[in-house]
Amino acid sequence: MANLFHETRSIALITSAGNTVLLAILLFIVRWFFVPIEAWIIIVICTLVFFSGYFFFKYAVDEFIYKKIKLIYKTIHSFRSVKGSETTSSGKSESLDSVNQAVIDWGARQKMEIDELKKLAAYRREFLGNISHELKTPIFNIQGYVLTLLDGGLEDVTINRNYLMRTEQSVNRMIAIVKDLEEISKLESGELKLNLQRVDLTELAREVVDFLEMKARKVNVVLSIENKTDGQVLVRADKERIRQVLINLIENAIKYADKEDNRIVVKFFDMDENYLIEIKDNGPGIAEENLTRIFERFYRTDKGRSRDKGGTGLGLAIVKHIIEAHDKTITVRSKVHQGTTFSFTLAKK
Ligand code: ADP
Repeated sequence: MANLFHETRSIALITSAGNTVLLAILLFIVRWFFVPIEAWIIIVICTLVFFSGYFFFKYAVDEFIYKKIKLIYKTIHSFRSVKGSETTSSGKSESLDSVNQAVIDWGARQKMEIDELKKLAAYRREFLGNISHELKTPIFNIQGYVLTLLDGGLEDVTINRNYLMRTEQSVNRMIAIVKDLEEISKLESGELKLNLQRVDLTELAREVVDFLEMKARKVNVVLSIENKTDGQVLVRADKERIRQVLINLIENAIKYADKEDNRIVVKFFDMDENYLIEIKDNGPGIAEENLTRIFERFYRTDKGRSRDKGGTGLGLAIVKHIIEAHDKTITVRSKVHQGTTFSFTLAKK
């Protein structure tokens, strides 16, 4: 586009030079064959024609392009104004220059927006596919149990209660999936605002450990807290969200515990401006190739095992979102058959 405006000068120059040459040839033919015109008169006429032609063509081309481009610029400008980014231009030459920049900026922005929309569309497609896949299993299970009960199972005392209990389990599974979906869509849409406050992490961890104690005891898991700092662990965080992080991580460690003596320890370390929180288990561990993917939505290392344990595949994705909303990151270290450690930091109060 910038070249186009510079080219108006070249176009005017070439056109008027061409015309002048043609005129000069014509005048020399006239001089030789018809009227003896003085050479200086021919030169003066040609010079006048050249300059007037140059300015005329330049003006005409400029005006033509300027008017057309101004229309395009106005359209782009109105799009940009709608989005709140105003630019002002005064004078013709400034407009012509800024049109070029405006078109480039506008094009780049449109491309970015289109790329973003394409990514979102792909994300939505994948997300919807995952949701329907996740919901299909409990729905089909419920359908199977209900049909069996309607087909006479209801009167059969050996199966009626059992099938109703299985139906309830599938309903609970659907509720868990829907709850996690609701949570993750709130986190991903940025709708959820953090309620930052002073939180005593040792106290919060104690509440979470007490809450999960029964569940842990049923599968031979011992829960403990180790405070490696000099005193209280006070952080600036959203208490309820961090409670959820601790529940998800400790529940996972309980869920996948596979030893005779299972141990889960919540540890706190002092890290200058932050506290480091670690949730360490001695469970089955996670293979290295899965470590980078476990925070993805619906990613499981073992689909069957996760579903049998009531997992939705969204727990770690929710945890990651919450920690990132606190401007921090979560990491994981693991060795197969030895255990897993999740660690994240939180800013000191
Ligand atoms: P799920 O609902 O399946 O537990 P999560 O997002 O919470 O989904 O976890 C993703 C996967 O990471 C799990 O399916 C499991 O394979 C693995 N995982 C998470 N925590 C642990 C852990 N403490 N020990 C072993 N594997 C784990």
